[in-house]
Amino acid sequence: MTMLSGRFDSVPLATLFPHAEAADHLRMRQAAAALDAERPTGDELRWEWFPQHVICPGEDAGGVPEILLTEISLYVKDADWLELVLDIGWTTEGLLNVCAAVSVACWCTENHNTHYINERDLIIDDRTSLGAAFEAGVGQLIEWLAESRDPETWRINAGLPLRSAP
Ligand SMILES: [Zn+2]
Repeated sequence: MTMLSGRFDSVPLATLFPHAEAADHLRMRQAAAALDAERPTGDELRWEWFPQHVICPGEDAGGVPEILLTEISLYVKDADWLELVLDIGWTTEGLLNVCAAVSVACWCTENHNTHYINERDLIIDDRTSLGAAFEAGVGQLIEWLAESRDPETWRINAGLPLRSAP
């Protein structure tokens, strides 16, 4: 799998999203800049993209074929972590989707590794442009950035097993 990464300035938007308009690309750049400005100190301004997913690879690809994503680390200590995730990928119906989610470490008896909670999907269709969906996704992450940065608090709110539980 080819994964490229760098600052948002180097994301080839016209290549990754050829059907979006220049105005969408501009809105995305402005929204990404707003998000990058809100990152916690020390968090890398890192975006990742997958050029082989520009054309929807279909369900056979397994999982959600992602085109562009970023993660914001809010907590990482003693095998526990909390992250915010923003990604653009394909739905199983072949539509573009901007997904905003909170990723938190799993403390279930069976280790699932990670749980995605508060997932919010913003599907691009005739009424929602990529620029608008991306802005809404960024807005959601910025709201979450103002909330707790304790993974345990997010697990409580999501009804997940707590780290201290037996
Ligand atoms: Zn779990």
